[in-house]
Amino acid sequence: MTSSPVSEAVAERRPSLSVVIPMYQEIDNVEPMVARVQEGLAAYRGPWELICVDDGSRDGTGERLSEVAERTGPHLRVIRLRRNFGQTAAMQAGFDAARGELIATLDGDLQNDPADIPRMVDELLERDLDLLQGWRRRRQDDLVMRKIPSRIANKLIGKVTGVALHDYGCSLKVYRAEVIKEVTLLGEMHRFIPVWVAGVTAPQRIGETEVAHQARQFGVSKYGISRTFRVVLDLIAAFFFLRFGSRPGHFFGSIGILFGLLGGLMMTHLLVVKFVLGENIGDRPLLFVAILFLVASVQFLTTGVLSELLTRTFYASGERTHHRIRWQSDPDTAGWSETL
Ligand code: UDP
Ligand code: MG
Repeated sequence: MTSSPVSEAVAERRPSLSVVIPMYQEIDNVEPMVARVQEGLAAYRGPWELICVDDGSRDGTGERLSEVAERTGPHLRVIRLRRNFGQTAAMQAGFDAARGELIATLDGDLQNDPADIPRMVDELLERDLDLLQGWRRRRQDDLVMRKIPSRIANKLIGKVTGVALHDYGCSLKVYRAEVIKEVTLLGEMHRFIPVWVAGVTAPQRIGETEVAHQARQFGVSKYGISRTFRVVLDLIAAFFFLRFGSRPGHFFGSIGILFGLLGGLMMTHLLVVKFVLGENIGDRPLLFVAILFLVASVQFLTTGVLSELLTRTFYASGERTHHRIRWQSDPDTAGWSETL
C-alpha cells in the first residue's frame, strides 16, 4: 500500500467490520474456518465480529458452531436457520444481523482466505468504493465444470447488466453496510450482488481486486451444473429489476404501447384498403397479425398495471425476506474482537 494520507489514517484505525459466512453441511470446516478468520483478522486494527449462518445443515454444523462460539467468545455470533433456505437467504440473514460499518462475506469451506480482508478494507476505503469484489484470478476449481461456464457467465452478466466484473461468483467481497443493507436478496441472487448494488449506488463505486483461492479440502460443493438454469432465470430478473425495478409496469406498458401502435397502424391500413379502395381484406394474414397485436397490447398493459400493484404491495408489506431463524446467539451480548 502507498503511504498516502488516507492510508495512514486507515492504518491507525479501521471501521467496525462484520464478517458473514453462510454454511451448509460444513461440519469439518467449522473449526478450521473460525481459526483461519481469527488468524487472518489478527492484523485488523479495528473492532470486528464473525457471523456464521448455519443454513439448515443436517450434519451437525449448527451444533458445532454453537460449541465453538462458547469457546471463542461473544465476537463469534451464530445464526441457525430453520431449514435449508439457500446461500442467498443465509447471507441475507447475516446482513440483517451485522452491526459493523463494513461487511465482508466469504465461503465457509476455506476456499477464500480471510487474510485478504484487511487489505481489501484498506483498498475499499482508499478507492472510496461501496463494494470491492474479489477476483479469483488463479481459481482452484474444475476447468470444464466450473471455470469455463463461469467465464461465459461473467461475460454475459457484464453485457446484460452493464456492470462488468471478472468474477461475480467469488464470495469474498467487502461492502459498506449502509449500501448492502439497502439491497434485498431473493432466489439465487447472491450471484449478482454487484448488479443489485449498482441499483442503489453509482457503478464506479464498485471495484474488484485479486484474491487468493484454494481448492476445497473438506466437504463437497453444494452446486452442480443444474444451477445454470436457475442462474439464467435470475439473470433475466436482475436485468429487469436494474432497468425497471422501481416501475416494472413501465416495461410491460412500453411493450403494450408499441404493440398497440403497430396493431393500430395495420388496422388503419386495412380499413383504408377496405372502405376507401373498396377491396376485400378477408383473406389477408395482416388482419390476423393486426388483431393479435391489438389484443397483445391490452394484455401487456394489464400485466403492467398488475405488476405495479404487486410491487407496491411487496414494498408496503415489509415482508422482504423469507428465511426463518430457529436460534441465534443473543444479539444483546454480542461482542467485538479488537487488536489495537
Ligand atoms: N451454502 C449455503 N447454503 C446452501 C448452499 C451453500 O449456505 O444451500 C454455503 C456453503 O456452505 C459455502 C458457500 O455457501 O460456504 C458456497 O457453497 P459451495 O462451496 O458449495 O459452492 P462453490 O464454492 O462450489 O461454488
Ligand atoms: Mg466452495
